[in-house]
Amino acid sequence: MVNKKMHELGTKKSTIRAIFEFGRQRAAEVGEENVFDFSLGNPNVPTPDFVREAAIDVLAHEEPDKVHGYTIAPGLPQVRDTLAESINGRFGTHFSGKNLFMTAGAAAACTICFKALCEAGDEFITFAPFFPEYRVFVESVGGKLVVVPAQAKDFQIDFAAFETCLTEHTKAVIVNSPNNPSGAVYSEETIKKLAEILRAKEKEYGHSIFIIADEPYREIAFEGYNVPYIPQYYRDTLVCYSYSKSFSLPGERIGYIVVPDEVADFGQVYGAIAGAARVLTHVNAPSLWQLVVARCAGKPSDISTYKLNGELLYNGLIEAGFTCVRPQGAFYLFPQALEADDKAFCERARKYGLLLVPGKDFGCPGYFRAAYCIKTDTIRRSLPLFKQLASEYK
Ligand code: PLP
Repeated sequence: MVNKKMHELGTKKSTIRAIFEFGRQRAAEVGEENVFDFSLGNPNVPTPDFVREAAIDVLAHEEPDKVHGYTIAPGLPQVRDTLAESINGRFGTHFSGKNLFMTAGAAAACTICFKALCEAGDEFITFAPFFPEYRVFVESVGGKLVVVPAQAKDFQIDFAAFETCLTEHTKAVIVNSPNNPSGAVYSEETIKKLAEILRAKEKEYGHSIFIIADEPYREIAFEGYNVPYIPQYYRDTLVCYSYSKSFSLPGERIGYIVVPDEVADFGQVYGAIAGAARVLTHVNAPSLWQLVVARCAGKPSDISTYKLNGELLYNGLIEAGFTCVRPQGAFYLFPQALEADDKAFCERARKYGLLLVPGKDFGCPGYFRAAYCIKTDTIRRSLPLFKQLASEYK
């Protein structure tokens, strides 16, 4: 009667959601202060005042039909021109509004790209650990998700493993840096090597292989970690950007896709993106928020809380005896679990009120994710509990 797959997707809770809901229930039973919920990637830094003021200004001064009406599908031309100029100012690129397609966040941006590119038999490569929704997005458009095992020592790319995953069916490679869940930032060396391999494979196979750069965490990179702008290194790159994390606006659904002129057959790709957005009934990105983000173009993100939280949690975990890559960006740590069964480890952590997500969900068993976009005080109070948990394994 109904589509089985859709029913399954709609009713089977993601592990992260299930843990979060367990946390809410536990908080009601034992008190909020005894639950240490590291499960969700919901930004806890308040939306900057300049964003809220811009929204008020747009509502007060723009014509209602502009603020609340449909826009053309790619988004308001002046908004796209303004954002393109801002990107050019930062990265030395030469985009104009025609290179941008406004979307309802990075999730829509990625899915539109997958839908635009995917033909029968196509494969999309992701590097473990990876954002689990990629599987849903890719499979929803009929593609196959191919997972490259993690390079656990630093969560850069295991190129030997990567090369064995590339085939004639590879349509695109998803690059998510700063990364959810590892917190790693791909170095310039990593991006250069990736680009070099893909250029050679494009030649060998005689067709384009795209990089889909999923960049909702671009602005959340800590001192000393530069996030290379991939279109500067590789021609066939589509950038999926979002304001969900940088301006703490996940509920407003706003972001964009960049399609550089240099992409093989720009007209075909941009046209297919417009077609995919149409089929996915995207219609247009929220008009109000298109206008707001244009007014905020080039304004900074406040990442000081994430930096503080990341360092605090990292140092606490290392002191407790965990092995973990130092936080470089985003707001996640991805330490090694203290037993091979990461699910059992996370179950055990629950005894202490520590809500952690097993690495298996991110294609990387034996690890766990801790999202540190939570109150600094909660992290501080959690550290003795991580110590007690670790002492169970000594
Ligand atoms: N990509 C990654 C890696 C994410 O972590 C998320 C959200 O957590 C998204 C995409 C979706 O972000 P958005 O809210 O912009 O759709």
